[in-house]
Amino acid sequence: MTAAIPFANTYARLPERFFAEVPPTPVAAPRLIRVNRDLADLLGIDPDWLAGPEGVAVLSGNRVPEGAEPLAMAYAGHQFGNRVPQLGDGRAILLGEVVGRDGVRRDIQLKGAGPTPFSRRGDGRAALGPVLREYVVSEAMAALGIPTTRALAAVLTGDSVMRETVLPGAVLTRVATSHIRVGTFQFFAMRGDLDGVRALADHVIGRHDPDLAEAPDPYRALLARVVARQADLVARWLLVGFIHGVMNTDNCAVSGETIDFGPCAFLDAYDPAAVFSAIDEYGRYAYGNQPGILHWNLTRLAEAMLPLLAPETEDGIAVAQDVLAAFGPRFEASYYAGLRAKLGLTTVQDGDGDLARALLETMGANRADFTLTFRRLGDAALSAEGDAAVAALFDDPAAYGAWATRWRARLAAEPVDSAIRRAAMNRVNPAFIPRNHRIEAVIEAAIARDDFAPFHDLVTVLANPYDDQPAFAAYAEPPQAHERVLRTFCGT
Ligand code: AMP
Ligand code: MG
Repeated sequence: MTAAIPFANTYARLPERFFAEVPPTPVAAPRLIRVNRDLADLLGIDPDWLAGPEGVAVLSGNRVPEGAEPLAMAYAGHQFGNRVPQLGDGRAILLGEVVGRDGVRRDIQLKGAGPTPFSRRGDGRAALGPVLREYVVSEAMAALGIPTTRALAAVLTGDSVMRETVLPGAVLTRVATSHIRVGTFQFFAMRGDLDGVRALADHVIGRHDPDLAEAPDPYRALLARVVARQADLVARWLLVGFIHGVMNTDNCAVSGETIDFGPCAFLDAYDPAAVFSAIDEYGRYAYGNQPGILHWNLTRLAEAMLPLLAPETEDGIAVAQDVLAAFGPRFEASYYAGLRAKLGLTTVQDGDGDLARALLETMGANRADFTLTFRRLGDAALSAEGDAAVAALFDDPAAYGAWATRWRARLAAEPVDSAIRRAAMNRVNPAFIPRNHRIEAVIEAAIARDDFAPFHDLVTVLANPYDDQPAFAAYAEPPQAHERVLRTFCGT
């Protein structure tokens, strides 16, 4: 008999102090909410088996599948700027790794699978709401083409969890190219465990950046890679209006994937100061602060890797500074290239940055919906008849008109046909994002009425964010005043 999940584990081969071996804790009455069939297929897992009784037993933690080596990973981190030498998977259990049909190695992890030695005072469980949110948003990010962890499945446990109220418990099966975080490096660095830092860096190079093994200075090259990947990632977030909400160093993956969809949110009206997370009292993780915070996090990574960068501390610092200096230019290049594409510009001209910033400023001053403004610009690019629908999104429609005049003058210098331009714009300006009020409605229906139809609908719409999907037009709309979500909660 071949194993149902083709595990090929490597993290479990690392030294013992990297993790704690711990099996999932069984639950009362597992019930499948959804299996991500395409992802199962990519991983080499039969989707029918996964959605059947044996698969659901695995997804709920009631059965440890053949080849799994369940463990909780150790990590540390800075939470809201405060150093925490020990965090670790407190409610997530890594079953193991599989190499997919695409040749990519990925972790399969159960989130909400019971206590681990890292649970501290937590119960190791997840409530239904955050599980649905993570499923919806992580899969939406994947469909938007943004590097992210994925959702393989969501199951109800049949047990209750105690939060502010009693809530249904659930488990999310998360898939990631790895769950190694900036905080994983910090875990060893904070203990002065240089061998640990080195073993981790070697593992990351082998896993994510095998080409660097032959580089003249592999650790420096690794740091530079992570800086570049993360700079590109945060640029992508800004370009779709995503606010992570809890960019602690333990939620910053060295793979460059978006991880941890706790209090995350998407902008409706454009506002660089937007904060949704109820625990982000001072707006540390506001939309517009994300690049600066990322630089701060990457500086923590460089610190943790310092002894690998040079034998003498001073020299290590010089290397780190050199590598980190590339962050700003990399982020800017990525962000402005993205903005140019959003505006339909295929060539680069002086003044493009000003043009983009002027639009964003006007949107901010006029509370224009971020997603719809860019989406409708595609029609405006085709013909000025499209202007009215964009202008209608601005408190003062004339403010858009003034900017559009500048934009048209710039478009005149573009070599591209307007129909091609519109098509290209629609491939980078989504019509559909996981709007906060839609997510709330999904969670409400599931908890209050055991109704998962809104969840399935939302997942379906968001699988094709760049298509118009007229049948789902309402999902493109911003919230009405009474639907607006002002606060999001991690719900841990
Ligand atoms: P997060 O805010 O999800 O990044 O989690 C921060 C830390 O708290 C991690 O070490 C988590 O594993 C841990 N944690 C969060 N929720 C729970 C829970 N319900 N039980 C145990 N540990 C938890
Ligand atoms: Mg986390």
